[in-house]
Amino acid sequence: MKDSIKVCIRLRPPSAMEQANGDEVVVHQLRENTLSVTTGEGKPNLECAYGAVLGSECGQEDVFKAVVGTVEGVADGINGCIFTYGQTGAGKTYTMLGSGVGKHDGVTARSVKMLFEHLKKNSAASAEGGDEARFSVHCSFLQIYNERLHDLLAGGGEGNSSGLNIREHKNRRSGKPEVFVSGLSEYRVTSLDDVLTLIDAGSKSRALRSTDMNDVSSRSHAVLQLSVEAESVGEDFSVLKRAKLNLVDLAGSEKMNTKANITRGHKNELTNINSSLSTLGNVMAALGDKSRTHVPYRDSKLTRLLQDSLGGNTKTTVICCVSPCSSAVDETTSTLKFADRAR
Ligand code: ADP
Ligand code: MG
Repeated sequence: MKDSIKVCIRLRPPSAMEQANGDEVVVHQLRENTLSVTTGEGKPNLECAYGAVLGSECGQEDVFKAVVGTVEGVADGINGCIFTYGQTGAGKTYTMLGSGVGKHDGVTARSVKMLFEHLKKNSAASAEGGDEARFSVHCSFLQIYNERLHDLLAGGGEGNSSGLNIREHKNRRSGKPEVFVSGLSEYRVTSLDDVLTLIDAGSKSRALRSTDMNDVSSRSHAVLQLSVEAESVGEDFSVLKRAKLNLVDLAGSEKMNTKANITRGHKNELTNINSSLSTLGNVMAALGDKSRTHVPYRDSKLTRLLQDSLGGNTKTTVICCVSPCSSAVDETTSTLKFADRAR
């Protein structure tokens, strides 16, 4: 297993619909990090081990514990990514943001809260030692739909319908190449509330786009980026730590439904989603295989955007969300396969 990539499985409870249909529970947690899947008559049952298995009784707090390492890393200057992967309805957005009562108690709010706490604590510790520490956090929120990047915080949502471009430059201090999105808005944030306000605004613009494009939200990746800079200045030194935390609610991983009458536009969408998710899997698999020197970051906008935060000195947590019920077993099996490749 790779040190820098942690893959967890989250089982949600059966939904009201699944219960009403008498859908059988076929995915069970066995131990802390293993689960079993009854895949159907004549097919082998699966038993798999992961970084962690979060059973259906696990709350948002337990899920946050699984991602804490990635968030702490960012406070210490190590880039991090947290992904939620899975078919539509499996619990990705619930895991990332929460929903209904207690909205905003998902991974995002908890991570941002912890990030600010760490930065403030470090800054106070420096002040006690007579040094000065400053930090700043900037927030961007974007969507990748049909291999195009859209700024969700660009007031009005106009002017970027063809998508923003990803570019590369050399960092002035480290000399290392860095990717950035040309023209993407960035807002300085100083509290969790600031970030939640931006998420609300961005989610509205996401929903707005959905009306003419038929539920874009489940067919697009949503990426919330927090760029952190922390500088400590003493009498004879100055240290600058920079890191990015990327919180990514991925597009639904379901396969193309050949039975449904899919219009050409939708077919393109699904092909793009499938190919960007499989590129993500390829990138993670390549990162774990020391014999592979080529990591195919450039094969999708998502992996290109996250290139600095995947591989090298970075920390990633992937939460693969699944339904425990028999009607979803094919998609669940395919999600578990992704998880297996990524870990
Ligand atoms: P996705 O984003 O993967 O399409 P959602 O996060 O929207 O799925 O989840 C689908 C539904 O299931 C939502 O109504 C959500 O509140 C509910 N849900 C998902 N995961 C859980 C969970 N662990 N506990 C309770 N309800 C959940
Ligand atoms: Mg969702």
